[in-house]
Amino acid sequence: MSIPPEAWSYYEATVRRPAFADLPDGDVQADVCIVGGGLTGVSVALELAEQGVDVRLIDAGRIGGGASGRNGGQINTGLAPGVTGLLELCDRETARALFDLSEQAIRLIDARVAQYRIDCDLARGFFFGATKPSRMKHMVAEQDALRDVFGIDRVHMLDRAEAIDLTGSDRFHGGLLDPSAGHLHSLKYCLGLARAATAAGAHLHENVTATAVDAERGIVTTGQGTIRAEHVVVAANAYLDGLLPAVEPRALGVGTWVMTTEPLPMEVRERLLPGNECVCDDNNVLDYFRFTADNRLLFGGGVSYLGREDGPQAAGLLRRRIAATYPELSDVPVGEVWGGKVSITMNRLPDLGRVGRRVWYAQGFSGQGVAITGIAGKLIAEAIRGDDRGFRIMADVAHRDFPGGPMLRRSLVTLGRLWYRLLDHF
Ligand SMILES: Cc1cc2nc3c(=O)[nH]c(=O)nc-3n(C[C@H](O)[C@H](O)[C@H](O)COP(=O)(O)OP(=O)(O)OC[C@H]3O[C@@H](n4cnc5c(N)ncnc54)[C@H](O)[C@@H]3O)c2cc1C
Repeated sequence: MSIPPEAWSYYEATVRRPAFADLPDGDVQADVCIVGGGLTGVSVALELAEQGVDVRLIDAGRIGGGASGRNGGQINTGLAPGVTGLLELCDRETARALFDLSEQAIRLIDARVAQYRIDCDLARGFFFGATKPSRMKHMVAEQDALRDVFGIDRVHMLDRAEAIDLTGSDRFHGGLLDPSAGHLHSLKYCLGLARAATAAGAHLHENVTATAVDAERGIVTTGQGTIRAEHVVVAANAYLDGLLPAVEPRALGVGTWVMTTEPLPMEVRERLLPGNECVCDDNNVLDYFRFTADNRLLFGGGVSYLGREDGPQAAGLLRRRIAATYPELSDVPVGEVWGGKVSITMNRLPDLGRVGRRVWYAQGFSGQGVAITGIAGKLIAEAIRGDDRGFRIMADVAHRDFPGGPMLRRSLVTLGRLWYRLLDHF
């Protein structure tokens, strides 16, 4: 398959988008109004519509046009801080409950793909690779915690030779292989969920921007009128832009990039990643990669704390990262390059909560949202219907604002992260 020249990302070029109805002008009523049609918002819509709830979802752009249709497609084990990180952040009981949600999140993808017959190139196997011999200690600690605290013994430790066999790259000194995690075409998956939500009766609308949310009265103002609802779910992720000022300082939108190569010969693919796993390294500014169903290497990396997501300028950087991993691909023809925004929190755990009487929100999946957004959406839907036990596990996690206030926040975080980037060299 060759990508048409007008396509701006591999994902957009390889999906058939459904048509969604226009939002009627004027005042519209709904039980629940959802702002944001990424994996989180669509998950809420699907869960509620299946229970007969009247749902209106609006997206400022296209469904799945945010991070959900631009990401690396990796379904990782656990949550972004890792299991040792989780144990440092929370007591054991909370850590276990959060980890259990991340396990449910992986199973939820499998269940939805099967139930709604979503063709999204779902594949198994996630490798977390150590890029320095000294970092193998961390891998051992992660595996020990997975086994001893969380009861997970499916995650294997690979030594250097096994890591090289698995990845085809001598950058890795070993690491952890989770055969249950894996990867998928995230936009196909998101649109598959959107189709299922529509079939269940949800109304999804594209190109409708929420300009204000009244959290007490449940009124969402758009360019076309208002939507009045019992509950409003804000699932705008890194694109809040003043919509919920109370929670905005807790998350920061950070730019990052992905590139695909042109399709590679099957012989190259089978030599580099013979088991078709996805790979993520252990740096603070990490590289992550996998093959697509049509034999392109899809490679993500780099970060802009200024929130830049303009893709083509990142081609040089990503080429260098690919060459560092696979020297034989240093001149490989580039397919598409694009960027997106990751919403990060200080502790790298998702931030779910409520504002006023009627608003629920989710943000800050911190680069690990492909799976956990699904469960976050399900928990918000359950909470709206009166059972908030699961929702509370996530919502009770304490979050801090990024320091510096609106003017200085980005500069301070840039400085802090530059320090962590420096640590990647040691
Ligand atoms: C380049 C990149 C690579 C990534 N790689 C991975 C990975 O490999 N594995 C992983 O687990 N995670 C990854 N992530 C993170 C993951 O993609 C996100 O955590 C997840 O998609 C977030 O989903 P969401 O629905 O919360 O947000 P989004 O998908 O960003 O959706 C938010 C939606 O809200 C809409 N919106 C915003 N404001 C308004 C408004 N005012 N009115 C109406 N609509 C609005 C936007 O248009 C957007 O469609 C990556 C992210 C990026 C950007």
